[in-house]
Amino acid sequence: MGRLIGIDFGTTNCSMAYLDQGKPKVILDKDRYKLVPSVVYYYKKNEEVRLMVGRAARSKFVENPFCTIHSIKRFIGKSFEMEEVQQAQERYFYIIEKDEKAVSHQQNIMIKIHEYDLAITPVEIATYVFKYLKQVAESFLSEPVDEVVITMPTTFQTRYAAAIRQVAENVGFNVVGMLTETKATAFAFGYANREDQTIAGDHTIAVYDLGGGTFDFSIFRRVPGGYEEIATLGESWLGGDDFDYTIMNYLIREFKNSTRNKRFADGKVYKDGITITNKDILRAIRTEAEKAKMALSETETTLIHVSKVIPEIDPAVDLNLKLSRDVLEYVVSDLIEKTLTIALDALENGHTLNPKLKLDALLLVGGQSRMPRIKQRLRDTFGDLIFDQILPEEAVAMGAAIYGNVLKVVQKRKTQESPA
Ligand code: AMP
Repeated sequence: MGRLIGIDFGTTNCSMAYLDQGKPKVILDKDRYKLVPSVVYYYKKNEEVRLMVGRAARSKFVENPFCTIHSIKRFIGKSFEMEEVQQAQERYFYIIEKDEKAVSHQQNIMIKIHEYDLAITPVEIATYVFKYLKQVAESFLSEPVDEVVITMPTTFQTRYAAAIRQVAENVGFNVVGMLTETKATAFAFGYANREDQTIAGDHTIAVYDLGGGTFDFSIFRRVPGGYEEIATLGESWLGGDDFDYTIMNYLIREFKNSTRNKRFADGKVYKDGITITNKDILRAIRTEAEKAKMALSETETTLIHVSKVIPEIDPAVDLNLKLSRDVLEYVVSDLIEKTLTIALDALENGHTLNPKLKLDALLLVGGQSRMPRIKQRLRDTFGDLIFDQILPEEAVAMGAAIYGNVLKVVQKRKTQESPA
C-alpha cells in the first residue's frame, strides 16, 4: 500500500503535504515550488489537442486566455444557474455554457474551447489537475500515493464533496477523509502549538481564510481528538481575484485621468480622458495589478508598466504608474473591511451560543492574507492574537495530512479492538 497525503485543492493553487515520522511536511514539485497552480492549458501540437497543467499552464494565460482554464474549483458540483457561476461568466475569459444534455441539473456546466471544438466538464478539468498532483507527489516521495484526505470549502459542502471525491477516484486515489479548509487549519495549529505550547490546555481559535476566490472565517474549540466548529461564515466571491480586479479598475481610472484634455496620434483631443476597453490589454493590466499587489506586501512602492495600451489611438502610449502600499491599501480598503465585518458577525454568532467565548489565537490562511494591512486590521479588531508559526499556503494541506493520520490511528485501533 502507498502513502497518504493531504490535498488542498484551491481556486488559485493547490498544495500537498504528508507526514514524515509524524511531522507534517509540504510536497515540492520538481522545481522545488510548494504550490501547484490549479490551471489547465489546452493547445495543439501536430494536429493533436494536448494539455499542460500547473505552473506552465498558468504562464499561458496572457497569451491565450480562452484556452487557459483556471478557478475550476468554483464550478465543482455547481449548476449553471447559480449566481456565482453567472458572475464567473462575466469575469473569466474562457467560455462557460450550460450543458443541455447533462444528466444532473446539479452539474450542468460545460467549458467550451471553440478553437479546438472541445467541451469539457469541470470534473474532467479538475481530474487533470489531480492527475498532475499525483505525479508530483509520487515523484517527490519516490513511492506510490494512493490514499488522500481532501479539504473542501466551508460552505457548499455536500455537492462539492461528492464531485471532488469523484475527481480523486478518477485518478485512482482512495479518499480516506474530507474536512473543511478551516478545520484543517485548526489541525495544523494543533500540531504547531503542541510543538511550542504557545497556548496550553483547552482553547478556542479562529481561522481567517482569504484565498484567491473565497473568504471564510471559522471558530473552533479544542475537544479531545480534534476541533469542534462553533461558528462559521463566508462569502463565495471575495478573495484575491477581487483585489486584482479592484486594482485594475483603479489603474484604468488613473490612466483615464492622465489622458484628459490631451491630444494623441489620431489627432483628437480627449476631453474626458481615454477608457481602456481592449480585452487583451485589460488582461495584461490585471496580471500586472496582481504582481504589484504581491510586491507591495514586501516593499513600500512598485512600478507598473504595460506597453501600448491604446494602440488604435496612439501606439506610442504605455501605462506607467508608481503604486505605493498606502494607495493600494486605500484602493482595496472596502474589501478588507468586508472580511472584518463577516469575521465579527461570526464571532457574534459564537457569542450567542456561548457568551463566555474568548479567542485564544487567530490563524491566517490563504495567499491574500499575506497582505500587511490585513494583519494590521485584524490586530486592531481582535487584539494581538495572530499565530504566525504556520505559513498561510501550507497550513491547509498540512492539517489534512495530520487529520488523515488521526483517521488511520482510529481505524487501526478499531481493527485491533474488534474480535477476529
Ligand atoms: P490561494 O488561493 O490561497 O493560493 O491564494 C491566492 C491569492 O493570494 C491570489 O489572489 C494571490 O494574488 C494572493 N497572494 C499570494 N501571495 C500574496 C502576497 N504575498 N501578498 C498579497 N496577496 C498574495
